[in-house]
Amino acid sequence: MDLMEYQAIELFGRHGVPVAPGEVAQTPDEARAAAERIGKPVVVKAQVKTGGRGKAGGVKLAKTPQEAAEHAEAILGMDIKGHTVHRVLVTEASDIAAEYYASFLLDRANRSYLAMASVEGGVEIEEVARTKPEALAKVPVDALPGLDETKARAIAAAAGFPADIHDQVAQVLSALWEAFTTEDATLTEVNPLVRTADGRVLALDGKVSLDDNADFRHPDHAAYADTSAADPLEQRARDKDLNYVKLDGTVGVIGNGAGLVMSTLDVVAYAGAELGGVRPANFLDIGGGASAEVMADGLEIVLSDPAVRSVFVNVFGGITACDAVANGIVAALQLLEGRGDSIDKPLVVRLDGNNAVEGRRILAEAECAAVEMVDTMDGAARRAAELASQGA
Ligand code: GDP
Ligand code: MN
Repeated sequence: MDLMEYQAIELFGRHGVPVAPGEVAQTPDEARAAAERIGKPVVVKAQVKTGGRGKAGGVKLAKTPQEAAEHAEAILGMDIKGHTVHRVLVTEASDIAAEYYASFLLDRANRSYLAMASVEGGVEIEEVARTKPEALAKVPVDALPGLDETKARAIAAAAGFPADIHDQVAQVLSALWEAFTTEDATLTEVNPLVRTADGRVLALDGKVSLDDNADFRHPDHAAYADTSAADPLEQRARDKDLNYVKLDGTVGVIGNGAGLVMSTLDVVAYAGAELGGVRPANFLDIGGGASAEVMADGLEIVLSDPAVRSVFVNVFGGITACDAVANGIVAALQLLEGRGDSIDKPLVVRLDGNNAVEGRRILAEAECAAVEMVDTMDGAARRAAELASQGA
């Protein structure tokens, strides 16, 4: 999960990274009030999960609370690279003498952590890496010893920070490393890390990616989830612990096992290409031991997608055999009807693998009007795409 700047700054602050005081605002009035409380010139900054806000006009200096409100008015609702601005960060303005760069990240290719630092900060670091690679210091950090003071100083020296701020930079790096490890982040990045006119070193921007695999160790991280940005169907699926990703087509897809669902998306898209570009509407993996309950939840999510015109249920019986899955589908349809959901979209079901014959018999005997069985995966994909293209 990627954090917004204001969340990253708050997280940095908790781990001792020096940051400028600030407040989040959702309206111009809130921005004005925040600027009044700060009592100094402020910077009003768009909160979106993308870089280059400065260039896009999403970072503006305000000398008075009135000006802060006006900037907030202009920035709220702005579209930055496809992200709508719903919040601004109002933060005490700093008198910048120099802009630097510092980060820690998970370096998968080298199975290690990596520190990166540069005195050429403020601009896009990818640009620095491309045009002036010697200006970007890259120092591997071994996870076991971690980052001690000697290492932090070595990074500061490798990046060429001025000697008079080595102490401060080493302290910032230590705090940033602490945030990186204790929060189980895969990235903690500061750009720009600035030196102020009065000689302080401050993090003026923050980018943090948290490792979702470690969520169980951090119940507090749930509060960072941005529910407003998520697709409502994806949000509902997440609440039900379903592996669902919304796509832009019209054929709903449900399968057991991520690999099978991925190849189902491919065969649907392949069959759909001949029908004027019919495509899958979603990815949904209900897992190996799919119960009727999980099947019902999955069907409910997929059927409630207004873009869906047909559904392809593709199951390969394994540990959970096809007869159990077939019973699950029948029970799921009854459950949905019991909940008052009408099943007005055709379901194409393909059952194969363990106990397939028995599974098909159960489905046939249940005589569900919406269900059509097709024996092969390609055939079922074609039928589902056909039904979707007919607008069924
Ligand atoms: P980004 O463009 O999305 O990376 O947003 P940043 O937070 O990095 O801000 C972009 C630029 O705005 C920085 O590189 C600074 O040059 C400038 N900026 C941000 N905060 C301040 C501040 O407090 N004072 C001044 N003078 N400039 C700032
Ligand atoms: Mn930045």
